[in-house]
Amino acid sequence: MRLGFVLDQEACIGCHACTVGCKQENDVPLGAFRTWVKWIEHGEFPDTRRAAAVLRCNHCEDAPCVTICPTVALHKRPDGIVDLDMDRCIGCASCIQACPYDAIYLDERSGTAAKCHLCAHRIESGLAPACVSVCPEQAIKVVDLDDPEIRRELGERKATVRKPERGTKPQTYYLGADPLALDPLGVDGTRTLSHAEVPDPMPAPGSAEARAVYDVPRPRLWGWRIAAYLTTKAVAAGALLAAALGLGDARALGATSLAALGATLVLLVADLHKPSRFLFLFTKGNPRSWLVRGAYVLVAHGALSLPYLLLAAPPPPLPPLAAIVAILTAVYTAFLFRQARGRELWCEDRLLPLNLTLQAGAAASAIGWHSGRWSYSVLAAHFAVVLVGAVMGPSTAQARRAHALMVKHVAFLPGLLLAAIAIAYPPAVFLSFAFLDYALVRAGQEVPLS
Ligand code: SF4
Repeated sequence: MRLGFVLDQEACIGCHACTVGCKQENDVPLGAFRTWVKWIEHGEFPDTRRAAAVLRCNHCEDAPCVTICPTVALHKRPDGIVDLDMDRCIGCASCIQACPYDAIYLDERSGTAAKCHLCAHRIESGLAPACVSVCPEQAIKVVDLDDPEIRRELGERKATVRKPERGTKPQTYYLGADPLALDPLGVDGTRTLSHAEVPDPMPAPGSAEARAVYDVPRPRLWGWRIAAYLTTKAVAAGALLAAALGLGDARALGATSLAALGATLVLLVADLHKPSRFLFLFTKGNPRSWLVRGAYVLVAHGALSLPYLLLAAPPPPLPPLAAIVAILTAVYTAFLFRQARGRELWCEDRLLPLNLTLQAGAAASAIGWHSGRWSYSVLAAHFAVVLVGAVMGPSTAQARRAHALMVKHVAFLPGLLLAAIAIAYPPAVFLSFAFLDYALVRAGQEVPLS
């Protein structure tokens, strides 16, 4: 059995009963939604059209939220439901970045993620989900997608799914949906909502054909702490790499590496909405998640920095090992961002692994500069990669829109200029990281996903 939703947009009257029924059943807080009805309008008078789309979790077969979840709080049940165990959730919000459909929110009361779980508790008692029960038009159905009859009907009625190109294999099917209502980039940025002020306008419209007249807010959860974590991590990587390459006093470099690593960990833990559960990364870790793999890399980084701090002459096998771990410390975030499949600016950025590797090299150079041992070419290569990344457009529409926002972001140009200045004055590279990382983290979340 493989459960999924079928949403009949030809039958839906856009009454929001499903939203209200879901909120009541699942105690969804004010301002958050497990399901909502988005309304759009398009066309020119007299040929105009208003269309609705019921949006929610797709219970994806290849669910990126499950892959990235570091503690297996999100999991795929044998019946196909993507469920969330709140007792395991550490509130890292990585699932929110991984879901390409805006289906997950952070419940500020519990500090954990939350989402549609197909009312699993009701299904287990033989009841239909709340949204199905309250829909006056029977426009929402839960079906067994393994049933050949259902598959045939979906084929005959040309059922569609949201963003099939993301490869998540959504298990929520739409009948008769207006494609513009399912396409977040199909609406412009001047939302004139019919019942509310627009608290959070979307970015510049481009050539959108429709406007949204009823929609929900989408908070951006990763901010300066995540950007600062990227920067301190680059400094830690640079200090360990400099120690491994003998670019300065080993003890001082070991101390710098550990101090920057400590700052990285503080920022990471502080950004969790359940910081008390930080150790779940090790005790309940999901080995597929780069958040967990990254945590192990950081532990190894600490373990290899310590001998530099404590020993005057580190043993011979240490430097090559330390160099490898330093690079891994810098670069693993590229793989984490690749798992954040909702944020196309991050996950489609083919230059990011190279960029982060060069960050480690540039940081090592900036650290070695004080003792006269630094590499002009690494700093120049770092600047060149940032410049090429700024000029080169990404391949997908969402990534292109986010990329345009990143380049226009107030932090981007200073970051680029500082990367150029660092070729002559290497310490400037640290400030350059801070600006560029901030622009990347913020712009990546600016484009709505639903
Ligand atoms: Fe649901 Fe999003 Fe996870 Fe897919 S990725 S299962 S839509 S929460």
